[in-house]
Amino acid sequence: MNRQDFPALNQQVYGKPLVYFDNAATTQKPQAVIDAISHFYQNNNANVHRGVHALSERADKAYENARKSVKEFINAKHTQEIIFVRGTTEGINLLSHMINKGDEVIISAMEHHANIVPWQLREAKLNVIPLLDNGELDLNAYKNMLNETIKLVSITHMSNTLGTINPVKEMIALAHEKNIPVLLDCAQSISHGPIDVQDLDCDFLVFSGHKIYGPTGIGIVYGKQALLDKIPPYQGGGAMIAIVDFEKTTFTHLPYKFEAGTPDIAGAIGLHAALDYVSALGFDNIISHEKKLLDYAQEKLQAINGLRIIGTAPDKGSIISFVMDKAHPHDIATILDREGVAIRAGHHCTMPLMKRFNVPATARISMTFYNTTDEIEKCVSALYKVKEIF
Ligand code: PMP
Repeated sequence: MNRQDFPALNQQVYGKPLVYFDNAATTQKPQAVIDAISHFYQNNNANVHRGVHALSERADKAYENARKSVKEFINAKHTQEIIFVRGTTEGINLLSHMINKGDEVIISAMEHHANIVPWQLREAKLNVIPLLDNGELDLNAYKNMLNETIKLVSITHMSNTLGTINPVKEMIALAHEKNIPVLLDCAQSISHGPIDVQDLDCDFLVFSGHKIYGPTGIGIVYGKQALLDKIPPYQGGGAMIAIVDFEKTTFTHLPYKFEAGTPDIAGAIGLHAALDYVSALGFDNIISHEKKLLDYAQEKLQAINGLRIIGTAPDKGSIISFVMDKAHPHDIATILDREGVAIRAGHHCTMPLMKRFNVPATARISMTFYNTTDEIEKCVSALYKVKEIF
């Protein structure tokens, strides 16, 4: 689908057509996103918030329109609930400032390091939801963990390693029964299906622009206004202040309270273009194509003797982690690369998950709407080559 919109996909590596199956790490960018960024730098480049001249007003308008586009994309109530940050990682670090030493936070065993380490830096006590063998969360264990000592539940919507999509709406409702707020890491899920923060009733949500066909360096924190108001500023500097004096400084209102310094203006504009691009494509089309790819790839991979898929939850996105007898995941990825197939091997920033499944690393195929069944065929033939070699 719409592959021609992505210039980087139209190339050969080692004399073979590129098969890009590393979309969970970062997605390729459509021409519309590349054009929006160059258009800004070529015509409207100026700093935001500070100027009255024409270019500055244009930059301001484009930056705030980008914020509005995010608000609409996730159906937030207010634009001031949308904060621009560098990405998911910075977003969780920002939000971690609502936690103090000794506070209890529930996370899960499938979390990315970005949803583990920031809580440790705040010296939180982590309560970890265990996993079932198929890579689903153990919801019974989760229910038993919810009690009045828990300050926050922070979980991924979709696992970047297993592909598992968690039943977050149900999990949020359960947490709210005990008045516990919930933060969703939507780094992966944002590009694979519609997200409606009001319908989910999540309290906080974070994602990265680069995982949804937008640029790197830009990401989003969403939070319910009343809750964001209670969190202290994360960084100090220009744009986030009301009055600065050597004796005392007061801070401005949302969202600027959390946007110290010059933001990634071009990044926000690129993200706006990316969200418009995805909306025009339509999630119905994206979901049905990705489901077809996932089913096709899983069937082909399962047929390879000695290959084991890790993560077989019934509700999963187009990500497949696997190991093969004898071949280390890094060897698999290297051999596939020579065939033009880009996959990722390693712990995928989920070391505790590797431990849970008792593997040092996995090889990971992550697909999106611009991938094809023909590319899966190429990948599978390359995997048979791996088998021959080992
Ligand atoms: N959480 C998940 C589930 C992810 O997949 C990633 C990126 N691999 C992150 C967090 C961190 O995102 P970023 O590196 O863009 O900050």
